Amino acid sequence: MSEATLIKCACADCLCVVSISTAVKKDGSYYCSEECSNGHSSGVNSCSHNGCNCSGQ
Ligand SMILES: [Zn+2]
Ligand SMILES: [Zn+2]
Ligand SMILES: [Zn+2]
Repeated sequence: MSEATLIKCACADCLCVVSISTAVKKDGSYYCSEECSNGHSSGVNSCSHNGCNCSGQ
C-alpha cells in the first residue's frame, strides 16, 4: 500500500482531502486539521485551508 493514500476529511462539510500519513487521526477517522478533529469546538469555522468554510455541522 502507498503511503500517499488520500482520504476525504471526516469533518461533515469539509471538502479537504488529506494523505492518511499526515492527517490528524481521531476515533478511527482522519481529519485535515486539528480544528476538524475536535469538531470546531473552539468556534473556528473552516480549517487551515483557504476557501474551506466547514463548521463540523
Ligand atoms: Zn476543510
Ligand atoms: Zn477538514
Ligand atoms: Zn472541518
